[in-house]
Amino acid sequence: MADKIYKVVAIDGPSGSGKSTISRLLAKALGFQFLDTGSLYRAVGLYLLECGLNELSTDEEINLALQDLDLKYQEDKVYVKGVDYSQLIRTPQAGHYASVFSAKRAVRDYLLDLQKDFSKKMDLVAEGRDMTTVVFPSAWIKFYLDASQQKRAERRYLQLIEIGKKVSFDEAFKDIVQRDDRDMNRAIAPLKIAKDAIYIDTSFLSVQDVINKMLYYCNKN
Ligand code: C5P
Repeated sequence: MADKIYKVVAIDGPSGSGKSTISRLLAKALGFQFLDTGSLYRAVGLYLLECGLNELSTDEEINLALQDLDLKYQEDKVYVKGVDYSQLIRTPQAGHYASVFSAKRAVRDYLLDLQKDFSKKMDLVAEGRDMTTVVFPSAWIKFYLDASQQKRAERRYLQLIEIGKKVSFDEAFKDIVQRDDRDMNRAIAPLKIAKDAIYIDTSFLSVQDVINKMLYYCNKN
């Protein structure tokens, strides 16, 4: 019997575009599984940092460290060797190292099959930077969520303040600019707008407005 083909809603966009919040709610509305691939990159980044690696580490060194990594993603939580990393990965430092190590071939290769496997089990809403272009190029529907750097920095700043982190708006803005630069200009799987993706600028839309727009396209298909 042929394998069942599950639907994938693939969503890409830069940091602070509202992707995670929106994708999570969209998955709920559709009754699909949600996959936050940024959390996988964050967990791997933190793990490699704990192994003593940094931006200058080679793919060989990274591969060696990854051989010992047991990474699991279950019900919106990420586990490294059985330890729940879901809170640990939500710091600016984890975001920084996720971005640094995600430019490495060894890390992207390591996570590719793991991400693809999710679409073999159930209908999926997957969000990240290369969902529409590399991981799920034949996705059922593709979205690119965007917002101005100013708006994204405002959101990032408020998010960090809300969870008690001491940052200034200028630091939040600088972080967004640096992350955009790294994610959009890296050699492997850079963030870009897929030709067949539906582009939504979320700068002046509420979360519910964006979800309604996305549901409209999903229901039309
Ligand atoms: O989305 P989030 O901010 O949690 O992602 C953290 C970092 O992980 C991003 O800045 C990006 O460098 C990397 N990432 C990636 N590819 C993905 C998801 C995240 O390179 N599919």
